[in-house]
Parts: sequence; C-alpha cells; structure tokens
Amino acid sequence: MDPFTTEKIKDLLPGIRTLLTDNILPIEHLLLQGNYQKLDEELVKVRKIVKSMGLWAPHLEQKYGGLGLTLTEFAQVSEILGQSPIGHFCFNCQAPDIGNMEILLGHASAKIKEKFLSPLMQGDIRSCFAMTEPDLAGSNPVMMNTTAIKDGNDYIVNGHKWFTSSADGASFSIVMAKTNPDAESKYKKASMIIVPLATPGFKLIRNISIMGDVGEGYFSHGEVKFENCRVPQDNLIGTEGEGFTLAQERLGPGRIHHCMRWIGICERAFDMMCKRAVTRELSPGSPLAEKQTIQNWIAESRAEINAARLMVLHTAVKIDSEGAKAARTEISTIKFFVADILMKVLDRAIQTHGALGITDDTVLSFWYRHERGARIYDGPDEVHKSALAKRILKDYL
Ligand SMILES: Cc1cc2nc3c(=O)[nH]c(=O)nc-3n(C[C@H](O)[C@H](O)[C@H](O)COP(=O)(O)OP(=O)(O)OC[C@H]3O[C@@H](n4cnc5c(N)ncnc54)[C@H](O)[C@@H]3O)c2cc1C
Repeated sequence: MDPFTTEKIKDLLPGIRTLLTDNILPIEHLLLQGNYQKLDEELVKVRKIVKSMGLWAPHLEQKYGGLGLTLTEFAQVSEILGQSPIGHFCFNCQAPDIGNMEILLGHASAKIKEKFLSPLMQGDIRSCFAMTEPDLAGSNPVMMNTTAIKDGNDYIVNGHKWFTSSADGASFSIVMAKTNPDAESKYKKASMIIVPLATPGFKLIRNISIMGDVGEGYFSHGEVKFENCRVPQDNLIGTEGEGFTLAQERLGPGRIHHCMRWIGICERAFDMMCKRAVTRELSPGSPLAEKQTIQNWIAESRAEINAARLMVLHTAVKIDSEGAKAARTEISTIKFFVADILMKVLDRAIQTHGALGITDDTVLSFWYRHERGARIYDGPDEVHKSALAKRILKDYL
C-alpha cells in the first residue's frame, strides 16, 4: 500500500470506480452531443444511486452527510471522478459548488447556512462564484468595479462579471464586491455577499461560447450583470473587507481538487491512447504501438502522470497537516506543473487517435476545448511561476 492510501479510502475506491464504469461513463455521450435535457434526467438518476450507496458529497464531514475524508483521501476520489467530465457532479463535489460549500461551512451565519448551504449540500440547488470582471485583469482581482453599498438593512450590489461558471440555472452566487473602498489595504476593500439569482436586477447576459461550444446549465460560463440588486446585509459571509482572505482560503484545497481531476483526465486519455496504439494497424499486423514516437509518448506520459500525482498528494498531505498557508509554494508548483502535463497528455492522445481524436465521438476533444482554461483559471501559469521563483530567490538575496 502507498503512504497516501488509508484503510478507509482503500475500501471506498473500488465502489467509486464501479459507479464510474457502470453508471457514469454510459451517459457521458449525452454531454458530448450537447443533449442537456436528457443528460439532466440521467444525472438525477445517477445522483440517487450515489446517495443510496452512501457515497454522496465525499468532501463533507459525516455530520453534514459526507464521508469525512481528509483532503489527501478526497484527492484520490477526485482522481477517479475526474475520469469523466460529469463524475464530480454525480457525487455533488463539483466546482464551484464544492468551494462555495467550504466557504459557507467555515464562515456563514446559521441563518445563511440553513437557507443556502443545506439545499446545496443536498444537491437540491446549485451555486456560482462571481469575482472576475471582463473590463479588469482577473489575474489581479483586487482591481474591481463591482460595489455593494449599504442602504438601510440591505446592500445594493452593482457590477459586471464574467466567467461566472455554472451561473445558468444556479440559485445563488457568492459575489465579490467592494464594500470598503477606503480601506488602507487593497486586500481589505472587498467582501463576499450572497446574491440569490432571482433577485430583481440580476441578468444572465449570455453563456459564453468556449472554442465553439456554448454550454448549458452546470456546463456553462456566464457573463452576468448585477444592476441595483438589493440583498439583506445578513447575506454577508464572514466580516466586511474579508473577501480576499476567504478567497485565498478557498483556493488552496480548490487547487488540489482541480489537479487531481486533471490527473483523472490524464489517466483516461492515457488509457485511450494505449488502447488505440495496440488496435490501430498501419498495415496488416503492424499496430501504431510499434512506432517509437508512440512509445515515447506512452513512456513520457506515464512518467509525467506519476510524478504529478506524487506532487499533488504530497501537497495535500502538507495542507492536511500544516494548513494551506504553509503549503503555498507547493500549491503554486502543482498548479502550473499539472496543467502543463494535462495539455501534453491530451494532445498526445488526440494525435494517436488521428482524425477521430478531434471528433466529438470521444471525450478527448471536449477536454481539449474545455481544459485549455486549466492554464488560466485559479491563477494563470505565469502568476504561479513568478510567485514560486520569487519565493525561491528570496533565499539567495
Ligand atoms: C474555464 C474558466 C472558468 C472560470 N471560472 C470562474 C468562476 O467561476 N468565477 C470567477 O470569478 N472567475 C472564473 N474564471 C476567471 C479566471 O479566474 C480568470 O480568467 C483568471 O483569473 C485570469 O484573469 P483574466 O482572464 O482576466 O486574464 P488577465 O488577468 O487579463 O491575464 C492575461 C494573461 O496575462 C498573463 N499574466 C497575468 N498576470 C501576469 C503576471 N503577474 N506575470 C506574467 N504574466 C501575467 C498571463 O499569461 C494571463 O493568461 C474562469 C476562467 C476560466 C478560463
């Protein structure tokens, strides 16, 4: 047994793998075909099965209906679920809901938890997270035009956001808005406020087309506007001016979730690449697998995926034992390192499949379109590399 696989997780993983193979992969084609209505119907059924098997929301503590896993244990579940674009959703541990659950659990009032968190944990509603704005560099989110101004017992929220993932059909958004524009520190000017999306003044302008693909519902990225949205001051999460502190807290474990999901994608793409290499014959009796280029791709991919997994699990162990702040260097390292490996492995798998690789007959092209963003969201590569290098170089000054 490897050092990351506890007895608990050893017992859980086979059941999760079986669910992936028997219940999740067979309905994945509905997403690839853009048949969202049928997909929603099938997802409801699979989610019921996951609940009935006691595997629901594995990231949550047992008292909230989850499995009470450590981050390191959940990371290994995430790898399996990542092997399908609908895996995490079937278990109610998908971004952005998982991050929002963590924020609300840690910092929302009892009233807010009952109203918004309970149905979210049950999977009865969805949520989104609105921080990035189209007119300002998202890499430096302290620059922000969105405001929440007090009026009586309410806030009036005004702002224009985009890449608000899964806004379409979500019940509420956690919105980053400036509440304290005069605060001395630029990190203390903004707060997180819940805005129910049924609030008058909220507008979903469009689901943004990503490389030719306009998703729907959970599988979408919204451009949204908040025009004089009036919400009670009770909807504040944490305290005023604490928005960026909470956002940082959300991002540490969030990067483990993303990286392990990407490793799941890599494993599936790798498996598809190997299967195609041994079955596709270039001439009778001469499969692709005999070509050294393909062999190199297989060997390099195997080594890179193994290295990535060890790095991410090591980071998860550090977060579990010392907290996300202590693991900042490791978190930056895995974010750009694993995103790069994801791109390479997907590209090699597509190339091995030839023309088939760019069709929507396999999941590879879906990932190639939708996961290009991995090098951009949660901090572009360049930001993480620069942060890492600065921390390293400090010791040389
Ligand atoms: C698929 C996807 C989902 C997303 N979901 C959400 C969501 O749910 N909610 C939300 O609020 N936001 C979301 N985002 C937005 C995301 O957080 C931003 O795209 C990201 O922060 C980068 O901001 P930007 O796009 O404005 O790029 P910019 O800030 O304009 O940066 C452009 C480029 O400049 C370079 N660059 C930036 N800073 C530096 C630097 N310091 N040094 C060197 N080069 C640099 C990088 O190459 C970067 O890609 C999502 C994005 C994607 C792609």
